[in-house]
Amino acid sequence: MTLVLCPGSFDPITNGHVDIITRARDVFGEVLVGVGRNTLKAAYLFGDRRLDLVREATAHLAGVTAEPMEGLLVDFAKERGITTVVKGLRFGTDFDFELQLAHMNHSLTGLETVLLPASAPHVSLSSTIVREVIKFGGDVSPHVPPCVAAAAGELPRQV
Ligand code: ADP
Repeated sequence: MTLVLCPGSFDPITNGHVDIITRARDVFGEVLVGVGRNTLKAAYLFGDRRLDLVREATAHLAGVTAEPMEGLLVDFAKERGITTVVKGLRFGTDFDFELQLAHMNHSLTGLETVLLPASAPHVSLSSTIVREVIKFGGDVSPHVPPCVAAAAGELPRQV
């Protein structure tokens, strides 16, 4: 059993994230989901609810826990004795970015990165698109865990 880290901003967690977390758990045994802040992104739609939604959406998965993540990813991992990060890979742009991050993280502390290919049904699913649909009152329930669909229904619409 190896504990690995699945980091992200999860605004909100989608079925694509749950798929990667589940498969990382199946391969490595234990997963810590790090719910962080991506300073490249604007304000969060789900704010402080992101962590609770991750916990609720993964409650059925033995060996999976979630924590808020602040600061450098490599420090967060090192403090917990974690040596491997697992991330999902959708399309070419994901790869270009993840490769840069993986090289930087490895050079900082030796943290390894394992990239799992997104499953076919989720390959073009992103939190960004889900947020846009939610803002305008669309139904995202086929693409997100039930707790996220319920939380989305409580948010104010933009139109
Ligand atoms: P970030 O803020 O770093 O973009 P996200 O919360 O968007 O983080 O995503 C976290 C991780 O989940 C990233 O590695 C991303 O590639 C992966 N991911 C996001 N959506 C999917 C999906 N539909 N299928 C597989 N992996 C995904």
